[in-house]
Amino acid sequence: MNKNVLIVGAGIGGLATALRLVKNGYNVKILEKNFQAGGRLNRISQDGFVFDTGPSFFSMSYEFEEFARDCGIKIPFKYTPLEPLYTVNFSDNPNTFFIYKDAKRLSEQFVKIEPEFEKKFIKYLEKRKKIFNDTIDVVIKRNFDSFLSYVVSLMQVNPIHLPLLFKSFWREVVKNFSSKEARQIISLVAFFLGRTPFDTNSVYTLLSYVEFEHDGYYNVEGGMYQIVEGLVKELEKGKTQFFYNTEIVDYIGNQNAVESLIDQNGNKWGSDIFVINSDAAYFRNKVFKSKSYSNEKLSKMTWTMGYLTFYIGLKCKIPQIYHHNYFLGSNYEEYANGILHNPNSLQKPYYYVNVLSKHNKECAPDGCESLFFVCPVPNLQYKNNWDDKEEIVDNIIKDFCKRINQNIFPDIVSKTIFTPVDWQNKFNLYLGSGLGLAHYMNQIGAFRPPNYDERFKNVFYVGASTIPGSGLPMAIISSKLVCERINKYIAKLQ
Ligand SMILES: Cc1cc2nc3c(=O)[nH]c(=O)nc-3n(C[C@H](O)[C@H](O)[C@H](O)COP(=O)(O)OP(=O)(O)OC[C@H]3O[C@@H](n4cnc5c(N)ncnc54)[C@H](O)[C@@H]3O)c2cc1C
Repeated sequence: MNKNVLIVGAGIGGLATALRLVKNGYNVKILEKNFQAGGRLNRISQDGFVFDTGPSFFSMSYEFEEFARDCGIKIPFKYTPLEPLYTVNFSDNPNTFFIYKDAKRLSEQFVKIEPEFEKKFIKYLEKRKKIFNDTIDVVIKRNFDSFLSYVVSLMQVNPIHLPLLFKSFWREVVKNFSSKEARQIISLVAFFLGRTPFDTNSVYTLLSYVEFEHDGYYNVEGGMYQIVEGLVKELEKGKTQFFYNTEIVDYIGNQNAVESLIDQNGNKWGSDIFVINSDAAYFRNKVFKSKSYSNEKLSKMTWTMGYLTFYIGLKCKIPQIYHHNYFLGSNYEEYANGILHNPNSLQKPYYYVNVLSKHNKECAPDGCESLFFVCPVPNLQYKNNWDDKEEIVDNIIKDFCKRINQNIFPDIVSKTIFTPVDWQNKFNLYLGSGLGLAHYMNQIGAFRPPNYDERFKNVFYVGASTIPGSGLPMAIISSKLVCERINKYIAKLQ
């Protein structure tokens, strides 16, 4: 066959697609705006420390296993299950909650505040399992050729789940649990979709099944970037060529096909097929100047929150905290309702701390610790000036010191901060929105920017910004779906 494919973007979606295509006999070239592969799944190596820059949770490992099988390779990184999965700390409760997959161990911590927790939890998960099993193959892991085919797929889902469509994640959790702590802990996973439990549909409570029962979370040995290094090594074993520091800014084409893409230096990149791993809505707007994705239309879509992330190297240990840790305040609902739009919510921040060196000693010098903080913040639509970033970061570190009962300020030897401005500029994320388009019902499935271009028959899209949605496992599924499209396109030509 020997068809040439040019992939724009070396994020996890672009890399996974490249491996699948190489396996199918395509010639693949990858262009990447940055100096190294990975996209949001990236790494900072600085002052002797290694930090994961974005994703730190790794779940749905079976999707990676299936992907490796499809490509005829061994999964190119090592991972081990985490138990507990993570910890949760509340500012008004001295107890740290250890979130175990093991329902018994988890429930023991709720005995005093919600005595029926274990029974309720098991019942809650049973229903999440049903939602997951009834939707994963029918709606999530499927291409839709039209709006009608999407509706037909939805109609195959057991109607017992229909009421969930009219409820928020939070309402469903409130129905199942009574204590403040249980409700907040169980609903935290909604933040993984870049919005809050209050505006995320309750269908997504299926994520509770994924995290607590189906698969859990893993430590990737040596840090999450080993996933990228493993995939790049596999690709380099073949003939795949990478071109870094190359950003696509324009195109040449006719009414219905693209002939070449043009980079920031005016170089032309021709190919038979183009796969775009850059944000599927923003790329259509910026590069293809598509009317359906005009500035006005993008501004009317619902985007996820931004992230303020910072990476701290410490010349001391903090044995009292775990690998993944959430630090919550005492005004969950008020905070969640303000976080997307109100910069003042940062005065009482909620945040996540990842201690990569906890299970990966090689990621920090001896006696040191590598910390990565993620704080959900308004995206650039609601806060576009980040001159106060040092002040906000210091405020979070102060709060953290109080919560862990240790002053880490004198031990900070490395500090890097990314605001939504950095996330936008580094990875072309619209408004610095960390997870792109929100997973609202009118922005998923057939309503999400599709993985084929509406005008150009030789252009396809892959990654979190097209179907099925956000997160590493979804990007892997997306690579399978886009390859199905490409194979179909080629079959039609022959
Ligand atoms: C702070 C943070 C934490 C997260 N945590 C998790 C987590 O714990 N678990 C999880 O599963 N997910 C997590 N996610 C989500 C996850 O990072 C994404 O869903 C996933 O990495 C997206 O991969 P992708 O390949 O679709 O896109 P990207 O990673 O964005 O890759 C797109 C690539 O295209 C390049 N590019 C863009 N435009 C151009 C252009 N014009 N020319 C050339 N190259 C271009 C970019 O530089 C980038 O390398 C997190 C995200 C963030 C921001």
